[in-house]
Amino acid sequence: MRAATMKHVYGPVPSRRLGRSLGVDLVPFKVCSYDCIYCQLGRTTEKTLERREYVPIAEILTELKSLLAQGAAPDYISLAGSGEPTLNSGIGELIRNIKEITSIPVAVLTNGSLLWRDDVQEELLAADLVLPSLDAGDAALFELVNRPHGGISFERMVEGLVTFTRRFPGEVWLEVLLLGGVTGIPREAEKINDLIERIQPQRVQLNTVARPPAEDFAFALSTKQMRALQKSFTVPAELINENPEASPEYSDTSAVDEERILALLERRPCTCGDLAKGLGLHVMAAMKALDPLLAAGKINAVVIGGKPFYRARQAPEKEALRPV
Ligand code: SF4
Repeated sequence: MRAATMKHVYGPVPSRRLGRSLGVDLVPFKVCSYDCIYCQLGRTTEKTLERREYVPIAEILTELKSLLAQGAAPDYISLAGSGEPTLNSGIGELIRNIKEITSIPVAVLTNGSLLWRDDVQEELLAADLVLPSLDAGDAALFELVNRPHGGISFERMVEGLVTFTRRFPGEVWLEVLLLGGVTGIPREAEKINDLIERIQPQRVQLNTVARPPAEDFAFALSTKQMRALQKSFTVPAELINENPEASPEYSDTSAVDEERILALLERRPCTCGDLAKGLGLHVMAAMKALDPLLAAGKINAVVIGGKPFYRARQAPEKEALRPV
């Protein structure tokens, strides 16, 4: 199978937390239990708590096997993508099957909203690493920042993080995304810190907006502000490195075709440098690959924080939802 036929597997993408991460999309755009104001995918189009096999697990496995047979060697296989992956009721079966075909560790990037459910906890137990989010220290800011489905209470979400972390045999790395003027102030950081003391994850990673957000009122913090806020945490909390070391170039560039680039940019706006690192290209080769896509109107560029990010143009109804 050529990379062009991949519908659910994308990348590897350069991940600030996971190195070279082969992404697996378990839900279609954009099925999520949250509608975060900072979401890099734009606004949620299907906010739900319904768990079902949104994407057939058998199709994902066929694609993964094909890519691995072509020599893909990412640092992690990451279950994530265009929404909340634990909404896919086949996630447990998928993890077990991946473990049978490869020793590459499996990471689950989740918003953590369903971790209170026993079935979800059970299904994630076979993963190597789970990376949930906690972006607010109280219910009011949870509502403001994450805009959760009405069936998720703040306290139940936090209890899910606590009980899952206690039960999970692998590592839990908690991401805290701080926003300028909202959660990015010492008083709010301290409230989040108190919750982290209850959760006790192995690592805490502080982040801020780094890609075009769903709402133009989701503001990034400067590195200086992030360093200052880090002092509000008594638990060890690291800042996610914005500029990880460039990965060695390894991939067969002949396999990097237009569809593969579009599949990545549909799910994740990237700088030219991101694209180069993710696909194992020289930055000039990545720029050369972007030029015809820009000229054909298949992608567009948006400048955020002084950096141009490239993203695939969506169908008109999706495009209209995304502020530029
Ligand atoms: S950031 Fe994650 S949890 Fe929040 S709306 Fe986007 S996909 Fe959902």
